[in-house]
Amino acid sequence: MTSTSSVPDTAAAARAFHAQFADISTCGATGGGGITRLCASAADGEARHRFADAAREAGAEILVDAVGNQFALFRLSGIPGAPLVMMGSHLDSQPKAGRFDGTYGVVAAGCIGASLMRARHAGETFAADFCAVNWTGEEGARFRPSLLGSSTYAGSRRIEEALSSRDDAGITLCEALDAIGFLGTDRPPPLPACYLELHVEQGLVLEKAKAAIGLVTRNWGAAKIDVVFTGEQAHTGPTPMPRRRDALLAAAYLIAEVREIAERWPGRFHSSVGRLLVEPNSPNVVPARVELSVELRTADDRLLTEASLMAEAAIAEAASRAGISSTITGRTLRPIRILPEAVCDLVATCAEEASLRSLRMDTVAGHDAISLLGQCPTGIVFVPSVDGVAHNEAELTRPADLEAGLAVGLRAAWRLCRAGGSPERALLFKRPDEASGAVR
Ligand SMILES: [Zn+2]
Repeated sequence: MTSTSSVPDTAAAARAFHAQFADISTCGATGGGGITRLCASAADGEARHRFADAAREAGAEILVDAVGNQFALFRLSGIPGAPLVMMGSHLDSQPKAGRFDGTYGVVAAGCIGASLMRARHAGETFAADFCAVNWTGEEGARFRPSLLGSSTYAGSRRIEEALSSRDDAGITLCEALDAIGFLGTDRPPPLPACYLELHVEQGLVLEKAKAAIGLVTRNWGAAKIDVVFTGEQAHTGPTPMPRRRDALLAAAYLIAEVREIAERWPGRFHSSVGRLLVEPNSPNVVPARVELSVELRTADDRLLTEASLMAEAAIAEAASRAGISSTITGRTLRPIRILPEAVCDLVATCAEEASLRSLRMDTVAGHDAISLLGQCPTGIVFVPSVDGVAHNEAELTRPADLEAGLAVGLRAAWRLCRAGGSPERALLFKRPDEASGAVR
């Protein structure tokens, strides 16, 4: 075995990253500088091809599983059945979204895999293989719920259930994936020894603290309640006001009340109604039916329970005030959880080596990594978002910050792959550029 231990070439990885990121950003590009790349749309299909082509060119083998998750496997170890280090995120987006959300983590993971492969060809030895992953349908914009691909991979959702999810036009995920050629038949790789996700923060914490790297230690809980209000279709002109059974009026009462719930705990509670489906949605017709989703987020279990009860009471109250009926059609709960310390410690060490200030923090948004939490050591690494703008075409992370995250991710992946995937063992390795005598 050789001990040439080449230093991960962060400059080359950064050049490759910027080129690939610019290329993929053209898939679903909007006039306002952002993207609309809904899950399993033509633009998503195009982005998937570009990701796969670049990874294949760098020596990866591409697998696509039954729900369209794409895995780029870089066989670094030469050992059959070697442990796997996995990094990735998602290429799908919200409508009129930013370019960085999700895509950053996928493209960075692909470039990290390519760097490690180059190191291997230069004589480096690894005890784990590396996989860059693009998870299907993280956003929940077209197919609900969110984190669809990663939660199916992690075993918390059945494949049939995920594939039968329908968009607002009635198209199933199965049909949409088939249409873009990504309804795969490959068996996905086994659970990794460690999963790491690079993502833009989408908040203001790093910017305010002037820190380059965020180490996520806990995720906020989220409760989502899907509601249908059913009234009666009528003419908006002659129908006397007392006779109207207006489903949209009930929705309006509820939306205002959902905001009030968050106002009770300033800074500690976020709430919204972000989606509304009005039928028949015509200016001259009293709405007969409204479908909406209530979302509640906090890092306090007690508040989440209390607020969920308040929201359910508000739904019934809004329906009764408008003289119509309500049905709760779905409830999802993402519990508040702590991320493993060993992964944070490893990434903190890598940040320190790269002379970057890091900060331990919460994630308020959900990420694919949360699906794998509890299944394997899991970490989320944030880079700053300018002014915290997210799910908006103006979303921005500066090139230097993108490169900082990439450099830290590369160091962490290098250590993990050398250590057979264990974050505890990876911490024992010396920094890559002093690694000739590193622990083996
Ligand atoms: Zn995301």
